[in-house]
Amino acid sequence: MERRISNLNHLEFRKLVEGGIDTALIPVGTIEAHGITPLGTDVIIPEAMAERIAAEVNAIIAPAVPYGITRGLVGHPGTIRIRPETFKAYIEDILESLAGAGLRNLVVLNGHGGQTTELKDALFEAGRRSGARTLLIEWWYDIDDIRETELERTGGHAGADETACVMAVEPSLVKPDLFDEKQVAFFSRSYSAYPVPGSIVIYTEGDWSLNLDQSKCEGFFDAVARRVTETITKVIEGWTASGV
Ligand SMILES: [Zn+2]
Repeated sequence: MERRISNLNHLEFRKLVEGGIDTALIPVGTIEAHGITPLGTDVIIPEAMAERIAAEVNAIIAPAVPYGITRGLVGHPGTIRIRPETFKAYIEDILESLAGAGLRNLVVLNGHGGQTTELKDALFEAGRRSGARTLLIEWWYDIDDIRETELERTGGHAGADETACVMAVEPSLVKPDLFDEKQVAFFSRSYSAYPVPGSIVIYTEGDWSLNLDQSKCEGFFDAVARRVTETITKVIEGWTASGV
């Protein structure tokens, strides 16, 4: 069954909503340098996640928002930045339109950590104005157990976890030949550099490995998708039980 709004005819869309589909998944990312994966990594992952889980959470999929609030990687080749106020207003308009079209549960699948604050504000404000219930999902949080079991890595920006997701979605998008160890930086609270001195920013020194096994990558993406599905299901059940 076609669940992507951009591929549905408007009458098909109406039929689905009248037929009881009241949840929309909205993939959101940014365009920024990502080590050996594409500039669009942060939107490629949530888009694939949406397609993977849509049937299970009985949702339709809104067209993705590829552009976002990049900061640290501005200046790296191909990176694009949207101003925070523009991004927030754009997201609010999308959410309010979806609510107006009859979708009660608006689930934003975010792929980029640099826009969490603006997304939370947009979800809260658009939800209050429209009466919709809004949920922000950031797949990379609270999955240390999955990283450890499936990848034996801690991950990071363009680290083993994001790279594994892109491998699972489309291995030909990952370019191990372009790896350069000098492009690996570490998350540190002791300094802030603009631009970030590398397009791979990992949590743990020495945690980089190019030996990404395809079946491990797919196992990781599957496990993350299951976790995201559980979260969405649980939140919607909680909303319903609470009468909100
Ligand atoms: Zn990323």
